[in-house]
Amino acid sequence: MTISFYPGPSQVYPQVRTFLTDAYDSGILSVNHRSAPAMELVEATFGLLREKLLVPADYHIAFVSSATECWEIIAQSLVRKSAVHAYNGAFGHKWAEYARKLGVEVTEVPFSPEGELALQELATDVLCITQNETSNGTQVSMPVLRQLREQVPGLIAVDATSSMAGIAFDWSLGDIWYASVQKCFGLPAGMAVLICSPAAIARAQELNERNHYNSLVFIDENFRKFQTPYTPNVLGIYLLKRVLETVPVITETDTKIRLRARELYHFFGRQPDWQLLTPSAAVRSDTVLTIAGDTNRIRDWKQFAAERGVLVGNGYGNWKESTFRIANFPALQDTDFTELYRLITAFA
Ligand SMILES: *Cc1c(COP(=O)(O)O)cnc(C)c1O
Repeated sequence: MTISFYPGPSQVYPQVRTFLTDAYDSGILSVNHRSAPAMELVEATFGLLREKLLVPADYHIAFVSSATECWEIIAQSLVRKSAVHAYNGAFGHKWAEYARKLGVEVTEVPFSPEGELALQELATDVLCITQNETSNGTQVSMPVLRQLREQVPGLIAVDATSSMAGIAFDWSLGDIWYASVQKCFGLPAGMAVLICSPAAIARAQELNERNHYNSLVFIDENFRKFQTPYTPNVLGIYLLKRVLETVPVITETDTKIRLRARELYHFFGRQPDWQLLTPSAAVRSDTVLTIAGDTNRIRDWKQFAAERGVLVGNGYGNWKESTFRIANFPALQDTDFTELYRLITAFA
């Protein structure tokens, strides 16, 4: 088996193998999505998300198909007219483009991956922030989000696709949080978790946008009853439930992931061939490391690793050739990182 350090789709939890056959054997894959077993599955999985990720009791949870779909849901169902998109990398930039295509008056606030996001007081319907920018391995810390919360009277939407289930959040600092499950959740792609504050739900009700199958009011009305507006990814929900049953509470995972990130940064910081893309420790991601180096050297290193059963993540967007990425996701075992250290050392 190869070890994949790709930051999405990423290595799935080893237990997924058994859970897949369990799903088949249990009969859940063939049940009607409005039947009791399906509703019980949704309800139980919501309960586990609250228990393990510490999602507040008054925040609403829904399952949708992808993080990209969440970009559209926010633009369609939560923006009155305008949104501010602050970003420092490719995913944040793409999100702004999706919103603009749907008719949102978008104000883009690009900032440098080398420094922390700082905004003036601003009035906007929705402030859109990428908590963990998967393209360059930076993150917006909870203290920075807290500052934004004080400055922004509108809703705050947080793309947490490559950090949710990996690090702990202060959920109260955002109104819309979402992540697709093929990153930190360690699951196969095809589903996303969307979490909304009471203020976000109130906004959706105020706008009452019902022109789309994925209108947020409509989604919320269904999920309140543990139903879904369309036939859902039952296998995805089942696997999420089973994995959540086995993982520790997020504060524990957070400690482990941050410690492992510190070791990784320390290790790569000492390698003569490699540089950390982001010099500032304050903005470096704990879940996605982006390592810069000579383009040819990177190509050779990725090939060297691949020949030894280790998949290293390509760079992304502007950093495609000049960096490689290493996922520090919970599904990866410490022994996987021992192998990574061994190979990097052998390559040098
Ligand atoms: C991967 C990723 C996305 C896109 O996820 P999909 O599941 O492909 O829609 C969006 N935002 C961030 C930050 C990501 O890492």
